[in-house]
Amino acid sequence: MKLLLVCAFICLVNSLCMAANEIDMNKTSDVFKGKTSDVKISFIGHASIMIENNNKVYHIDPWGNMGNYSKLPKADVIFVTHEHFDHYDAEAIKQISKADTKIITTETVANEFGKKTFVTVLSNGQNTNIGDVKVEAVPAYNIVHKHEAGPFHPKGRGNGYILTIDGLRIYIAGDTENVPELKKLENIDVAFLPLNLPYTMDKTMFEDLANSIKAKYLYPYHSSGMNQKIINSVNVPDSIVRIRKFEK
Ligand code: ZN
Ligand code: ZN
Repeated sequence: MKLLLVCAFICLVNSLCMAANEIDMNKTSDVFKGKTSDVKISFIGHASIMIENNNKVYHIDPWGNMGNYSKLPKADVIFVTHEHFDHYDAEAIKQISKADTKIITTETVANEFGKKTFVTVLSNGQNTNIGDVKVEAVPAYNIVHKHEAGPFHPKGRGNGYILTIDGLRIYIAGDTENVPELKKLENIDVAFLPLNLPYTMDKTMFEDLANSIKAKYLYPYHSSGMNQKIINSVNVPDSIVRIRKFEK
């Protein structure tokens, strides 16, 4: 009898844990309610995201390895977090650019364009408004994970972005660890946080950052090389954790 009760308890705990994260690997986009309009977020793959709102299209870190950008909607604004190949892809940017496309990025990436007028450079801590979108650039860097020459992502070089679109605050972290500045972020509706090694965060770091930010909705992304069971089991009780297919 005792054994039966223990078994029943374990089953209950398991089912509760299973229910905690919303896993749907077939979904390619989710729609959120802004103040007056829908905000559709599509998961192109790895760190590549597309957001559509009020007939405007925003691409973040478009990478041709993850989607056929010649077929995707052209961008009103392209956000690039940093210069690594899985975030900055000149060919993909060309494919989704039209005459009036704007690019928001870092100093390092802007240098690749020769500092053209359609490119706006933001440093960590700087804000701007572009069309209907408020953009905040936040730090994205490593403290722990490094190679011989230093951290994979040195402090001050890359950006994460908080985009406020029709009142919805969407945080796209880029490649970062659970650094102190990010643990103070508040009022985030939707967060995309990276979960992979060696370049970003392991599960413990991910949970530490996610449990500090307490976004309403949380997406683990940039998870190449990470075991799917680990991704599925992240424990962030104050957020609705949505597991989607980001890697091939
Ligand atoms: Zn990187
Ligand atoms: Zn990356």
